[in-house]
Amino acid sequence: MKNYYQPEIETASYEEIRRIQNEKIVKQVKHVYDNVPYYRNLMQQKGLTPDDIKSVDDIKKLPFLSKDDLREAYPFGLLGTDLKNIVRIQSTSGTTGKRVVAFYTQHDVDLWEECCARAIVAAGGTNEDVCQVAYGYGLFTGGAGLNGGSHKVGCMTLPMSSGNTDRQIQFMMDLGATILCCTPSYAAYIGESLAEQGYKPEDNKLKAGIFGAEPWTEEMRQGIEKSLGIKAYDIYGLTETSGPGVAFECEEQKGMHINEDHFYAEIIDPETGEVLPEGSKGELVFTSLDKEGFPLLRYRTKDICILSREKCSCGRTHVRMTKPLGRSDDMMIIRGVNVFPSQIETVLLKEGYPPNYQIVVDRVNNSDTFDIYVECPAELFSDKVSEMQTLEKNLNTAMRSMLGIGPKIHLVAPKTIERSEGKAVRVIDKRKLH
Ligand code: ADP
Ligand code: ZN
Repeated sequence: MKNYYQPEIETASYEEIRRIQNEKIVKQVKHVYDNVPYYRNLMQQKGLTPDDIKSVDDIKKLPFLSKDDLREAYPFGLLGTDLKNIVRIQSTSGTTGKRVVAFYTQHDVDLWEECCARAIVAAGGTNEDVCQVAYGYGLFTGGAGLNGGSHKVGCMTLPMSSGNTDRQIQFMMDLGATILCCTPSYAAYIGESLAEQGYKPEDNKLKAGIFGAEPWTEEMRQGIEKSLGIKAYDIYGLTETSGPGVAFECEEQKGMHINEDHFYAEIIDPETGEVLPEGSKGELVFTSLDKEGFPLLRYRTKDICILSREKCSCGRTHVRMTKPLGRSDDMMIIRGVNVFPSQIETVLLKEGYPPNYQIVVDRVNNSDTFDIYVECPAELFSDKVSEMQTLEKNLNTAMRSMLGIGPKIHLVAPKTIERSEGKAVRVIDKRKLH
């Protein structure tokens, strides 16, 4: 027996989803045109009025929004309704150094929490579960979104927020948490801490984890699943579109279903802005179909991924997105070569190293330096310099074959790289500071 939070919409036919989307987009474009002068201006510059948008096929005519627009319009320029209707704000974690403030009406909060509830149910959650929410609470969307979703499902919610790992473990054990929600890097840290305290994976009652808000690899998923004894589900979202829950994984674990009744997704060529056909790799663009407070149309996420309409065995019909294959602004260009942190993580985990690493890029004498600090697992760690050098050399070779350039590898003692309780800081690019 399959479980859905909102079966009718989650398993609706493609035609039905299109019908809903078409109905909503016409209303939404009119709403934005009438209420958001900033966007009305952008439409007018293209000679567009709401009458030009009759279905989602016309979305491609609309102008894009980017983080630059959000900064320019900060704080109220993209607000879609009277402030008196707003009940909440959230703000980005500032991964890229620029804060964004998003506004929610009560309708928007409900809609967002329902999306998170769909994710929890897809991970096997019911009202009999104990859901430990260890994403940060406060401005960050992670805690608020999953907390609300957990309430909607009827789980007993543990509003832990991130950090204080000993207390996380105590509550997890004493109250019998069955679902853990946090960033994947924090999940890995919790797994490591449990082992250190002498717990085996089967000692906890966890069955599933809902992890997202930052990139993580398949290899990291396997590590977390093993250390916690759970099935680990991915969840995706961004503050601009509401937060986590825009897309979530089902038991297939083959891409995340996008909640298409609320968010219309396109893949574009990041250089030309042209819409690409299904199956192409490109930048993900979202149009929020029914948000009132912060109704962004054609928002460029910078996340690079692929969409697929292939039938899913879970019965959900909504389009699936791959894990972001990188963020176009996360990509480092080192000595002219494109390098994504996720590629580095894949190599490390394949070679038997833990996901505890830091990438440092700098420029010395007009040439890029590229160093990776990696914790050496205790069983490989040796006092003999020559043995450590051999390990470093092997890792350098593996990196070179994946990336096309070879970083300088520094193996450091176990537990010397700072652990993350929220989004991990993996890259220190000193070139940007010059
Ligand atoms: P910031 O841009 O400050 O990090 P957010 O906290 O809203 O703001 O983060 C949104 C971004 O986080 C997304 O655009 C994406 O790059 C990343 N992200 C969110 N969920 C995932 C996920 N499951 N896998 C990979 N990256 C993710
Ligand atoms: Zn599915």
